[in-house]
Amino acid sequence: MLKYIDTHVHLDDTRYDDDRDALLARAASAGVDTLITIGTTLDDSRWVADYVAAHPGVYGTVGQHPELVDRISDGHYAEFKALAKRPRIVAVGEVGLDFHRPEFTLAAQEPVFRRMIALAREVGLPLVIHNRDANADTLRVLREAWDPALGGVFHCFAGDLETAKAAVDLNFDLAVGGVLTYKSAQGLRDIIAAMPLERLVLETDGPWLTPQAWRGKRNEPAYMTAVAQQLAEVKNVSLEEIAAATTANARRVFGLDRLEGKA
Ligand SMILES: [Zn+2]
Ligand SMILES: [Zn+2]
Repeated sequence: MLKYIDTHVHLDDTRYDDDRDALLARAASAGVDTLITIGTTLDDSRWVADYVAAHPGVYGTVGQHPELVDRISDGHYAEFKALAKRPRIVAVGEVGLDFHRPEFTLAAQEPVFRRMIALAREVGLPLVIHNRDANADTLRVLREAWDPALGGVFHCFAGDLETAKAAVDLNFDLAVGGVLTYKSAQGLRDIIAAMPLERLVLETDGPWLTPQAWRGKRNEPAYMTAVAQQLAEVKNVSLEEIAAATTANARRVFGLDRLEGKA
C-alpha cells in the first residue's frame, strides 16, 4: 500500500471528539499512517504535546495562529518554548500573517510572528507558516528574521507563482491540500505544476478544506488520498511517485528519520 504523511491536521478540533481513534484507523487504512497535528494557541499546543506523546504515528507542532494573536500574552512564550522541547514536537506553527479579515492587522500580527520565529530558532525547529493574503509581508519578515537552514512549510499554499518561488528559495516546502481539487483552483494547479516535486508535501488541514469529492462534509486525513491523486495529475507522474516524494519531503522537513533513529 502507498504511504502518505498528512503534514497538517487539527486533531484537537471538537468535531473529532466522537471518533478520533476511528479517524486514525481510517487514515491508516488509506495509507496515511503518519500525521502532524497543529497547535494554534497555547491551550491547544498543550493538548498537542500530550496527545502526540501517547499516539505513535502522530507528531505535533506548537504555535499561535495569526488570527488568534489576541489570545496571546507575554507570559505564554516561556511555556511555548517548554512545549516546543517536548517529545515528538517537530515544528513551531502554525504562525504567520493573515489579512483575510480587515480587523486582523499587521501591527497586531507581526510582533507575534517574530517572537514565534525567534522561538523556533532558539529551539532549532522548522516553521509551519500560515500565510493568507499576506505574501509580501510574510516574505519580508522571513527574510529579515528567519534562518532558512531550519526549513519548514508554507501550509495550504495559496500564494502566487512569485511567492512560491521565493518560499522555495527560502528553503520552505509547499504544502497542498483539498484546495488543489477544487474546480476554481486552476491557478493553484498551474503554480504547483511549475514547482519541483522535491519541495511539495501533502496536508488535509482537517477538519477544514475537504477535497471536492466529499465537499460539504468534515475533512479528515483518510481523504488526503484524493489530494495525492490530484497532485499526480497536476505533476503528470504516477501516484507511487507522489507518495514516495511527498513522504520523503515531509520526513526531511520535520526531521522524522532523526527522531525515529533511522539516520
Ligand atoms: Zn492555516
Ligand atoms: Zn491549520
